[in-house]
Amino acid sequence: MEHETMEFDVIIVGAGPSGLSAAIKLKQLASAAQKEIRVCILEKGSQVGAHILSGAVLEPRSLKELLPDTWQDAPLDTPVSHDSFYYLTSSRSIKLPTPKSMRNEGNFIISLGELCIYLAAQAEALGCEIYPGFAATEVVYNDQNQVIGIATGEVGVDKEGNQTAHYQPGMHLLAKQTLLAEGCRGQLSQHLMARYHLRDKCQPQTYGIGLKEIWRVHEELHVPGTVIHTIGWPMDQATYGGSFIYHLSKQRVALGFVVGLDYKNPWLNPFAELQRFKTHPLIQPLLKNGERLSYGARALNEGGWQSLPKLTFPGGMLIGDAAGFLNVPKIKGIHTAMQSGMLAAEACFESLEDSTTPIEITKYPEKINKSWLAKELYSVRNIRPGFKWGLIPGLINAAFETYITQGLSPWTLSNHADYATLKAAKRAKKIDYPKPDGKLTFDKLSSVFLSNTYHEENQPPHLKLKNNKLAISVNLEQYASPETRYCPAAVYEIVEEEDGPRLQINAQNCIHCKTCDIKDPRQNIVWHAPEGGGGPNYSGM
Ligand SMILES: Cc1cc2nc3c(=O)[nH]c(=O)nc-3n(C[C@H](O)[C@H](O)[C@H](O)COP(=O)(O)OP(=O)(O)OC[C@H]3O[C@@H](n4cnc5c(N)ncnc54)[C@H](O)[C@@H]3O)c2cc1C
Ligand code: SF4
Repeated sequence: MEHETMEFDVIIVGAGPSGLSAAIKLKQLASAAQKEIRVCILEKGSQVGAHILSGAVLEPRSLKELLPDTWQDAPLDTPVSHDSFYYLTSSRSIKLPTPKSMRNEGNFIISLGELCIYLAAQAEALGCEIYPGFAATEVVYNDQNQVIGIATGEVGVDKEGNQTAHYQPGMHLLAKQTLLAEGCRGQLSQHLMARYHLRDKCQPQTYGIGLKEIWRVHEELHVPGTVIHTIGWPMDQATYGGSFIYHLSKQRVALGFVVGLDYKNPWLNPFAELQRFKTHPLIQPLLKNGERLSYGARALNEGGWQSLPKLTFPGGMLIGDAAGFLNVPKIKGIHTAMQSGMLAAEACFESLEDSTTPIEITKYPEKINKSWLAKELYSVRNIRPGFKWGLIPGLINAAFETYITQGLSPWTLSNHADYATLKAAKRAKKIDYPKPDGKLTFDKLSSVFLSNTYHEENQPPHLKLKNNKLAISVNLEQYASPETRYCPAAVYEIVEEEDGPRLQINAQNCIHCKTCDIKDPRQNIVWHAPEGGGGPNYSGM
C-alpha cells in the first residue's frame, strides 16, 4: 500500500522530558548556527502530558542547562523544604537518617505532565512540530537495514480488522535520524533493541511499577515542600518497594508506592499494597477527610548503568527511559532523561551536517560517557541489585556503596529478568488484602475512572497473547493468573465458562503502564500502541 509521507531532519517518538529536551536543544543549536532543520515530535497521548506520570521531585540541573535564562519560568510548583525517611512496621514508623541520594535541597516538587506542557510550548516556539494523538506503531527501514523513520498507526479499523467510515491510513514520517523517547519499555524501542542486538552486551533491564494518587488534604495537615519516603511495611523483607509522599501547592499531596517487578510471590497485588499502605498510622491521619483527585500507574526502569543497551543503530538513537537512564537510589529519571536527550541532540546536530543518509551516530555514547550523567549512574550501579538479598542486606550494601566505596567498588552487581522471578502459586503465601472502604481505600475500577482513560472500543485489541493457551495452562494453573493482580487497571479477568476458565482482556481500561509486557512469566503478553489519543488522560500527574 502507498503511504502518505512527510520528511523531516529528525523525528522524535514521545513528548516526555527526554524527547522535548532533545527537540529544544536541536532547535537551539540550529538557530545558533543559523541553520534550518525540521524536527517533529509524535505523542500517543491525546495531548502532551496526557500519558505522563511521575512522582515528582525534579532535580533542576538539566533544566537549568537547557534553558539557562528562563528555567525559573517553568511550572516548578513547590521548592522542597524538608525530607524525611522512615522504616515502617505494620503499626510503627521509625525515622531514619535520610540517605545522601534522597536529600532534595534545591529540588522542586512538580507535576511532570505540567512541565512537559511547558517544554512543548518552548519547543513549538522554536519551530518544532508536535503531533499529539499519533502513536508511532512501526519502524520504517530502507533496503540497507537502516532506520529511515516511523509509521503512524491506522485509525478507524474495527475489531475484526475492517475499515470503518472513519478510516484513515497510517503515514510514513521519514527523517535522517529517529530518536526513540518512548519512556520505559517503549514498544518500538524494544523492537529496535532486538533487531540490532542492542542488549547483547548488557545486563537484563529490570523494572518497578509505580502507582500514584493525588489527594486534596485538610489545610492544617498540608505542609508545602514536604518530602517523605518510606521503606518496609507493607512489603515483606524479601520484596523491594517503598513509598513517596510529596506536598505540592494548593493543599495537594502526591502519594505513591513503587514495587520492584522482581517480586516473587504471584499473590502480590501492587495496587492493593498502595491501598493498604494508606491505612498506616503515619499516613491515615494525613488523608482523613481528604479527597482523592487522581490515580495512575506506570512502570519505571530499575536496571541502571549495567542495564543500559547500546544506544545507537543506523538511523537513530535511544534516549531517556527508553534506554533506561533512571537513577534508582534517587528515584529520579527526569534530569537524566533530559540530559540524555540533550546529549543526543548535540551529537545528532553535529553529525547531520556531514550526512544525507541515516548514519549511526557514535558521538552520542561518547558524549554520554564523558558526561556527569555517566558518573552519576555509575556511582550508584550496585545499590538496587544489592536488594536481591533482602531489605536489611540491601540497606547495608547501599550504605557501604554510598559512604565507604562511594561507587568505586571494583565489582558491578548483576541484574535479573523480572519475568523469571515468580514462584509457583502453591509454594507462595496467599496475601489477604482488606476490602476497600471507598473513603481511604478504593477498588481498581473506581480508580481507573479517575485516570480519565478512554479507548475507541471498536478497534483491534492492543493487548495480544502470543499463545492463548498459556493464559490457562501456565498463568492460571501455575501462577494463579498474576496479571489479574499486577495490572493496576483491572484489564485482566478470569471468567468461568461452560468449557472451563478463560482470560478476558478488558483492553479499554488499559492505562499504558506496560507492566504486563514486562512481568508475564512466559513473556506471552504483547502490548501494542492502540489508536493514537487512546489511553489515560492524566492531568497534573
Ligand atoms: C511512580 C513514578 C515516580 C517517579 N518519580 C520521579 C521523581 O520524583 N523524580 C524524577 O526525576 N523521576 C521520577 N520518575 C521517573 C521519571 O518520571 C522518568 O524517568 C521520566 O519521565 C522519563 O522520561 P522519558 O522522556 O524518557 O519518558 P516518559 O516520561 O515516559 O515519556 C514518554 C512519552 O512518550 C510517549 N510515547 C511512548 N511510546 C510512544 C509511541 N510509540 N508513539 C508516540 N508516543 C509515544 C508517551 O505517551 C509519553 O508521553 C518516576 C517515575 C514513576 C513511574
Ligand atoms: S494491561 Fe498491561 S499496560 Fe495496560 S494497565 Fe494493565 S498491566 Fe498496564
